[in-house]
Amino acid sequence: MKQVVVIGGGASGIIAAIFAAMNGNKVKILERNSSPLKKLLITGNGKCNYFNNDMELKYFNSSNLECLNEIINEKNVKEILSFFDTIGIVPKIKDGYYYPFSGISASIKEALLIEAKLNDIEIVNDFLVEEIIKEGKFIINPNKEKIKADSIVIACGGVACPKTGSDGIGFDLASKFNHTVIKPLPALVKLKGHENYFKDWDKIRSNVKISLYEDGHFVKKQDGELQFTSSGISGICAFNLSGIIARGLNDGKKEEVKINFIPWNKKDVLDMLEERSEMVTGRTISEFLEGFMHYKLVKIILDKSKINPYKYYEELNGKEKYALGENLTNFNLEITEVGTLEEAQVSSGGVSLLEINPLTMESIKENNLFFVGEVLDVYGDCGGYNLGFAFISGMLAGKAIK
Ligand SMILES: Cc1cc2nc3c(=O)[nH]c(=O)nc-3n(C[C@H](O)[C@H](O)[C@H](O)COP(=O)(O)OP(=O)(O)OC[C@H]3O[C@@H](n4cnc5c(N)ncnc54)[C@H](O)[C@@H]3O)c2cc1C
Repeated sequence: MKQVVVIGGGASGIIAAIFAAMNGNKVKILERNSSPLKKLLITGNGKCNYFNNDMELKYFNSSNLECLNEIINEKNVKEILSFFDTIGIVPKIKDGYYYPFSGISASIKEALLIEAKLNDIEIVNDFLVEEIIKEGKFIINPNKEKIKADSIVIACGGVACPKTGSDGIGFDLASKFNHTVIKPLPALVKLKGHENYFKDWDKIRSNVKISLYEDGHFVKKQDGELQFTSSGISGICAFNLSGIIARGLNDGKKEEVKINFIPWNKKDVLDMLEERSEMVTGRTISEFLEGFMHYKLVKIILDKSKINPYKYYEELNGKEKYALGENLTNFNLEITEVGTLEEAQVSSGGVSLLEINPLTMESIKENNLFFVGEVLDVYGDCGGYNLGFAFISGMLAGKAIK
């Protein structure tokens, strides 16, 4: 039996502790907040989207995606889902997104805490781990509490939403053991630019396709509901591009998104306009477009296309028709900034996966030191991927401590 200390009582830490305790170890969780799982409670707008039906690697981001294969795979997905069954969580699955059937994140919190109690795990709240050294055993806070451990799991989270307790201290603890920490940046957050028309499209929502280009090269496409805001764009499809954009901006790249308001290709849209213009008579181009688009977006698109809104479709010249088609299907928006770490749902970057054994989550630099969850250089799209990764990585570490 080993003395195991898990640093951080978040999603990944609680699961690591439970699986380590199931192996017969004596497990203690040190949590800086007055109670564990503070962040989990606010996930999914309080409904906790804790997993996804489709855990393909394409929904994850890391500088070393290859290692993720060993972590996120069919076997591990099956095992963690069956664990959730055994602790009594009944899922409600909507478009592949898993939520607890109760519709409240507190159900997941309670089920995990009951399981921790059943496994005799000691949870010490209001305990901030500031330093770990190794002198034979690990010693936590050697100048204060001097807690000893045979194995340590660092489950401190990343640096997003720091009010929930994850402020990046896990990266400092990792660095002391010579781990490489890839610069953390915000991800799953809104996108910002500097356009005068933002004030006009604020609060509009529209189903679109958006494509990200870095220095003119296509990178990633998303579709879904886009929320237009007074500083740029938001919503799941914008969030899912934000981590890549934040890193690109950090590296000095030009970041542009192209919005397709009518999710067809430009030729089909131009053909559709021609066809409809024969049916719809006595309407200015502005009135004509308002038949299928929000009037505020119509005004912005006509302005950007340099088209007089009082003209009739048949009066447009070739150049104007081309510009209209382009701005309806390829509306270019330069992104100059993303939201802050305080606003972000996760941080990208973190402890390099190259320095972790992906089968066990153990450090390859220090025996019996494990890393799980968002402290690692992995994050996923919206849809339950981040909690999914936290749970699976926690499970692998806990199982490996024997
Ligand atoms: C608003 C919001 C909504 C989200 N919604 C979803 C969602 O619906 N689905 C999804 O999959 N993901 C969602 N996420 C992301 C998800 O919550 C995180 O990726 C996940 O919680 C990471 O788990 P973790 O255990 O690695 O870290 P955390 O959950 O951040 O837990 C880390 C814990 O460690 C503690 N800690 C940190 N440092 C120390 C220290 N030095 N000493 C002691 N304790 C310490 C912290 O207090 C905290 O309790 C959301 C995030 C936010 C902010």
